[in-house]
Amino acid sequence: MRYYDKLIFELSHPGRTGYTLPESFCGEFAAETAIPDSLFRKAPLDLPEVSEVDVVRHYTNLSQMNFGVDTGFYPLGSCTMKYNPKINEEIASHPLFAGLHPLQPADTVKGAQEVIDGLDAALAAITGMKHFTFLPCAGAHGELTGLMLMREYHLARGDAARTKVIVPDSAHGTNPASAAVCGLEIVEVKSGVDGLVDVEALKPLLGPDIAGIMMTNPNTLGLFERQIGEIAKLVHECGGLLYYDGANMNPLLGKVRPGDMGFDIMHLNLHKTFSTPHGGGGPGSGPVGVGERVLEYLRIPRTSGFHGNFGVMLRAYAYILMLGKENVKLAGPLATLSANYIKESLKDAYKLPIPTVCKHEFVFDGLINDGAREGKAGASTLDVAKRLLDYGFHAPTIYFPLLFHQALMIEPTETESLETLDEFIAVMHKIAEEAAEDPDILHGAPHNAPIGRPDETTAARNPILKA
Ligand SMILES: *Cc1c(COP(=O)(O)O)cnc(C)c1O
Repeated sequence: MRYYDKLIFELSHPGRTGYTLPESFCGEFAAETAIPDSLFRKAPLDLPEVSEVDVVRHYTNLSQMNFGVDTGFYPLGSCTMKYNPKINEEIASHPLFAGLHPLQPADTVKGAQEVIDGLDAALAAITGMKHFTFLPCAGAHGELTGLMLMREYHLARGDAARTKVIVPDSAHGTNPASAAVCGLEIVEVKSGVDGLVDVEALKPLLGPDIAGIMMTNPNTLGLFERQIGEIAKLVHECGGLLYYDGANMNPLLGKVRPGDMGFDIMHLNLHKTFSTPHGGGGPGSGPVGVGERVLEYLRIPRTSGFHGNFGVMLRAYAYILMLGKENVKLAGPLATLSANYIKESLKDAYKLPIPTVCKHEFVFDGLINDGAREGKAGASTLDVAKRLLDYGFHAPTIYFPLLFHQALMIEPTETESLETLDEFIAVMHKIAEEAAEDPDILHGAPHNAPIGRPDETTAARNPILKA
C-alpha cells in the first residue's frame, strides 16, 4: 500500500494542523450568546490532525481513484455521459452569474431572466412544445411535475376517473416510480419482438380510466417507435395525454420534435443532453415543456429555489447558442453513427437480440461464446463490465433494460473520436477472446482497479458508511 492510500485518520498526528483561525470575536458577547451546558460536546471531536499538504494529497489521490468523463470513455446507456465543453463551466462560474443572490430585487436580475427566457424559447423550438417550466431539479422530478400537470388537466375537465398511466416494459425505471409517487396506477404495455411498443397490445388498454401514456422515442432500446403517429392518435382519441421522457434527446436534436409526434408534456435532462456533467448526484435540471392542450396549467412562476438550478441552465443555453441551429442538427446523426458503428463491429462476439439500425444506443445480451464448459461457469455481463475497468474504460449500463437477462446497454454519444471507438471495440473483442479461453480471468476482474469486486448485494443491503 502506498503511503497516501491510507485513510486520512491513519495519517493523523496529534497537534498537527493545516490552518489558523482568528480569535473568536464572540468573547465580549459571551453572556448573550451563552450556549447551555447541556448542548456542549462532552469530548473533543475525533477529527484527523493533518497538515495542508496531507489534506491536498489525500483528496487528490481520492479523485484519481475515480473514473469520470474527463478520464476516459464512459459508454453508459440511457444516461448520456458525454464530454461537455469546458467553456460552459467558465460561463456558469462567472462571478456576475455565480454571485447572484436569490433575494436580489427582480429588476437587478434582468440578465438572468433573459437567459431563462432565451433558453425557454430555444427548447421550445427544439422540442415543438409551447413553454417550459424550470422548477424541476432532475429528470425524475420533471416526470412527477409533468404527471401532476396531466392529472390537473383531467381534473379541471371533471374527468376524475382517469387514474391509470400506461408505461412500456422497456421504460426507464423512474417512469413507473414517478407515476406511483403521483398516485397513478401503472399499466404496462408489452414490446413486440422488434423491441417496439405493440400497438395491438396497446389498444385494449385504452379506455375512460387512462390518464395517458409515458414514452420515450427512440425508446430505451435505442429504437425509433415508428408507429408513434398511430399511438398518439389512439391515446388522444381515448381522452388521454402523451408524456415524453426526453432525458436523452441527443438523437433527435434539430431533426424530430416530440411536439410534432403528438406529445403533450415532456421533460428534458439538461444535465444529460445539454452539457452539464452528471453522475455523482447533481445538480441537475429537468425542465418540463407543454403543448397547447396543457399550457394553461403550467404554473407561474416557472423557476424554483427562486430561479432553479441556474448554473445548469446557463450551460445549456451556452451550449445551444454555441452549436447554433445548423450544428445542433449534427449531434443526433453523429450519436447514431457512433452507436451503429460499435454495434456492427461487435455483433460477431456479443449477442445482438434486435439487429435493426439503432439510434443513440443499443443493447447486447451477453457474449456469444462465454467460455462455459464442463466444470467451468461462463463469463456473465457483470464479468465483462468489470474486465472493462482493467482496460481503462467505464462499463456500459448492465442488466437494464430488464427485457434481456444479460443486457449490456451501450451509448457512445456524439463526442467520441473514431480512435476512441476503435480502441473500445478492440478491448471488447479482447475480452470476448479471454472469456472463450478462460472465463476465470473475467470472474476475478477487475485485477488492477483501486478496489476489487465488492459483494454488491451485501453492500446494498447492509451499507457500512463509516470506518
Ligand atoms: C436519467 C433518466 C431519467 C431520470 O433522470 P434523473 O435526472 O436521473 O432523475 C429518466 N428517464 C430516462 C430515459 C433517463 O435516462
